[in-house]
Parts: sequence; C-alpha cells; structure tokens
Amino acid sequence: MRIIMLGAPGAGKGTQAIKIAEKYAISHISTGDIFRANIKNETELGQKAKTYIDQGLLVPDELVVDLVVDRVNKADCENGYVLDGFPRTIPQAEALDEALAKRDEAIDYAINVEVPDENIVRRMSGRRACVECGATYHVVYAPTKKENVCDTCQGTLMLRDDDKPETVQKRLNVYHEQTQPLINYYTTKGNLVEVDGTMDIEDVFGKIVEVLGE
Ligand code: AMP
Repeated sequence: MRIIMLGAPGAGKGTQAIKIAEKYAISHISTGDIFRANIKNETELGQKAKTYIDQGLLVPDELVVDLVVDRVNKADCENGYVLDGFPRTIPQAEALDEALAKRDEAIDYAINVEVPDENIVRRMSGRRACVECGATYHVVYAPTKKENVCDTCQGTLMLRDDDKPETVQKRLNVYHEQTQPLINYYTTKGNLVEVDGTMDIEDVFGKIVEVLGE
C-alpha cells in the first residue's frame, strides 16, 4: 500500500501517518523529519534546508525529489509506505508519479486531513517537539506523561521555530498557494480520500481505516 498524506501544517497528518504505518506495517517517511535530522547533524543538506524551513518556506523541489525517490526504492518500502509531508508541490507529485511509473507502481491513496486555518493557528501554538528525538506532542491534545519531558527519550520539549505564530501564518499561505492544488491533482487521478481532521485523533484514524480496510 502506497499512501500520501495531504493537509495543512498542523492538521495532524504526521500523527495519522505514524498510526497508519504501525497498523499496516509499512514505512513512515517524513520529509520534515529527514530535514530536521540533517539540520541536527549539520550536513550540507541540513544547512541548505534550514534557511528555508526557518522562514516558513518550502525547501526547493530539487533538494527534496531525489531524496524521496531514493528512499521509496529502499528494501523497507517493498511492502509499501506512507509519505508524510511529500509531495508539497505539483512538480514534486509529477516527479514522484514518473519515478513510480518506471517501476510499474503508483500511489494508492492520497489522504487529505482537512482542518480550517483558524483551528490550525490555535493548535500549532500548543505543539511541542523534543529537542533530542523530534517526537511531537501537544500541550492539550497529545500531552506528555511528565510536563515538558519527552515520553520516548526523556529529552526536553520546545516550541519549534517554524511553529511560532508568525511563521505558522506564513506556512499556511505557502500551503494554500503551493500544496493545496495537489487536492485537485489527486482528485483527478481518482485516489483522493477526504477526512475531517477536526475530530479526535482516534476518530480521524477510524475514518481512515474504514477506507483502507481492516
Ligand atoms: P513538516 O514537518 O512536514 O511540516 O516540514 C517542516 C518543513 O520542512 C516545511 O515547512 C518545509 O520547509 C520543509 N519541507 C518538508 N517537506 C517538504 C517538501 N516535500 N517540499 C519542500 N519543503 C519541505
């Protein structure tokens, strides 16, 4: 099963992607996580990506496409994968489709987690990320067991620079301009699944499972 997650930043697509990967035993590939790991390790890619990410802008297509195409060709993707944060532009979607077609493969579902902008801004201000492992939480919707301490690695939590209110608004504008057109792209292809992302995490997941199957 090859799945793409669509939705505004903060719509909860990452949370759903992790749950999907677990239930269907497929790989979870988050381009945001890949960039953040590269930034932490101070790689050349990380340094290039950081200037865009910190400003709430998209990293240029040429820095993302090959990275993802190489990644989905790895052995742990044979069973399928869920792409979280890619594609984010029409050229990225076209490049992915082309690369998959060469192997007689295609995306099965593009799941759009729909949340209105006003909910997003409220949600993002409560989001916290672990400085060590990058796991994300929410002070209200997905709190850690111990305040400000990561459940997984005991690292300290922080508000990511790109989750600060001024950057969130910019990321939403970028989303509407560059990523939202993908909804039409996958509708035309006939594999778009729309889910109401304002519901509880488990209810959103339940709707997704209804479509993907038990
Ligand atoms: P995310 O964690 O998915 O919200 O990604 C964080 C940031 O990484 C985004 O705001 C972008 O700057 C960058 N990024 C992640 N995935 C992509 C992509 N497919 N294309 C361009 N930029 C990306």
